[in-house]
Amino acid sequence: MNSNLLNPLDNMPVCDVAMGNVSLLRLDRTGGPAPGNKAFKLRENLAQAQRLGVSRLVSFGGAWSNHLHALAAVGRDEGLETVGIVRGEAVLNESAMLRDARSWGMQLVHVSRAEYQQRNECEYLQQIKDRFAPCLVIPEGGANAEGARGCMVIAGLVKDVAPQTGRIVLSVGTGTTLAGIAAGLGSGYEVVGISALKGAGDLERRVTQALVDCGKTDVAQWRILHDYHCGGFARSNTALRDFMLEFENVHGVPLEPVYTGKMLFALHQLLQCGEWDCTTPVLAIHTGGLQGRRGYSWLSSA
Ligand SMILES: *Cc1c(COP(=O)(O)O)cnc(C)c1O
Repeated sequence: MNSNLLNPLDNMPVCDVAMGNVSLLRLDRTGGPAPGNKAFKLRENLAQAQRLGVSRLVSFGGAWSNHLHALAAVGRDEGLETVGIVRGEAVLNESAMLRDARSWGMQLVHVSRAEYQQRNECEYLQQIKDRFAPCLVIPEGGANAEGARGCMVIAGLVKDVAPQTGRIVLSVGTGTTLAGIAAGLGSGYEVVGISALKGAGDLERRVTQALVDCGKTDVAQWRILHDYHCGGFARSNTALRDFMLEFENVHGVPLEPVYTGKMLFALHQLLQCGEWDCTTPVLAIHTGGLQGRRGYSWLSSA
């Protein structure tokens, strides 16, 4: 049933490197209206809302946030009210992502960048909670214990579609998805995260905490590589763009430059320099985010 999620790559070279040892786990094909990892991060948060008997979900994000986009989609599907606290004042030309979210019924509340800075502070969170009560407030990116536990389900998919593959690679923003997967897989696996951010020195601590939140002691070996951000979060450079366009062309798999493009570019470089053996099977997780392609004119809209 999950076999359509496995996408083995053939040996046709991309920028002179064959990636035939790589298979993709296409989470971009899961999640219905909210494809990718964000729906997994939300499922336990929804269950928590249900337990608390609240039908309004509030969270935070930028104008191109995959998380707010998924929250709006899932909220509409489940008949829940959603509120998005959006970083920065409203602009005349609303992003395609916020347009979707609004059309799905999300209430958008724009706040100044200074106010947005307070998004993780207790006092501010209490204000938000009071303002939208009764509600459940979910942190930016769905980065909480429920988020990590929801991602343990992805480990089940990994074991299902590629039981022989010991090395798993995925993109990392908050580390929540990596933690859930490492917890769900258990020992015997190696999970390598490619940070989409520049100098995110607290990621290891965040993952360690999220692993504790998952309540599992037997977790996969994991590590995060910090040198593949291509200039910083949501930045790109010519090398990344060239790689992505050729990869999409050769393999027919759409990517986006914030997460999945950088992850596969990192993998490509590790194979190219010989640090990773090109015969060892790797499962690379396509975490979705394709709705964000609309922000980049150099990517086709197909
Ligand atoms: C949010 C996101 C990630 C990062 O997930 P974290 O759990 O925050 O590490 C990776 N890929 C895509 C497409 C995302 O939208």
